[in-house]
Amino acid sequence: MRPIKLFTPGPTEVPWRVREKMARPLIHHRTAEYRTIQREVIEDLQRFMRTKNPVLLLASSGTGAMEASVVNLTRPGEKVLVTVAGKFSGRWKEIGEAYGLDVVAVEARWGDAVPPEEVARALDENPGVGVVFTTHAETSTGVLQDVKSIATIARERGALVVVDAITSICAEALETDVWGLDIVVGSSQKGVMTPPGLAFLSLSGAARERVERNRERAYYFDLNRALAAYDDGDTPWTPAIGLVTGLNEALKMIGEEGLENVIERHARNARATRAAVRALGLGLLASVPANCTTAVVFEDGNAEAVRKHLYEVYGMRIAGGQAQLKGKIVRLGHLGYYFESDIFTLISGFESTLLDLGVIEAGGRGVQALFGEFHEM
Ligand SMILES: *Cc1c(COP(=O)(O)O)cnc(C)c1O
Repeated sequence: MRPIKLFTPGPTEVPWRVREKMARPLIHHRTAEYRTIQREVIEDLQRFMRTKNPVLLLASSGTGAMEASVVNLTRPGEKVLVTVAGKFSGRWKEIGEAYGLDVVAVEARWGDAVPPEEVARALDENPGVGVVFTTHAETSTGVLQDVKSIATIARERGALVVVDAITSICAEALETDVWGLDIVVGSSQKGVMTPPGLAFLSLSGAARERVERNRERAYYFDLNRALAAYDDGDTPWTPAIGLVTGLNEALKMIGEEGLENVIERHARNARATRAAVRALGLGLLASVPANCTTAVVFEDGNAEAVRKHLYEVYGMRIAGGQAQLKGKIVRLGHLGYYFESDIFTLISGFESTLLDLGVIEAGGRGVQALFGEFHEM
């Protein structure tokens, strides 16, 4: 039987140390033992998200924390701005519209980032905007958005800044407090190496004030309830105990390696993957590449055949394109628990697939490029 390995930008590989912790007998959440675990998780998330703000844990996938941000910060009819350059940034627009907001979307081609100057222009044309929603790493295209500049522009104009950092936390430089980010959203199944089902968000003083003035909009996702419980070291509902326990171990592993080393490892893996793709003669989608995933363009429509073959023959699961990119790209994931040997595994499987399918005529160029990147030949 062939081993199956995930090379998707969420869910990502879960290290055995995390799996082993999650396999132990369940503990109850209203106990000192659980509170200690939760406190450690929150302290580590604050450390890795670079913030002194409270970090709230929500039992949902990442989108739940996005929705919680929208519903708790805004009133129906309020004007907000979103940057849209892919499937996930488009989600901010969809959630805003679902809650009756007046959404101003600043868009870019899928594969590019939204230029901060365009955000500045749109804010100047729409003086009533109270909140800017943006996406740090757009996972559908593998593009990194300049969140720091957008935050400066928004703050200068008195708007709050909410960032989907779901695939940038522990993978990219992210400075929540220094950049002045009011809400930063993350989730378990990405860079923090834990199964899906747990989301979290940090909340600045200004965001908290707005949330406190905005009661009775949400119930399960009412952040006022979450903040009241947080101050007592609690959660309003039953927390995702098993996932919090797993995340505790994953964050310890990140702490042991060191956040800067983890981010540098991601940058190196992403750089090496891009070098291999170029050496194979294939195109890269992202004009400003992020560390989470590398989107590879298949002009001739081979993307889905490549993805299927890589899984069925070599046991490696990669992602395809979403929405308008469906069938046009594959996404090679290197977010989370991936080291040099994993990138060799990924590229050799990918290259073998291309050879099997007749997309390339000889094998070895991609792997050769990896030696160049990892060993400075
Ligand atoms: C994975 C992801 C999400 C959240 O998706 P869920 O399926 O709700 O966890 C949101 N934004 C980005 C950029 C993502 O990569």
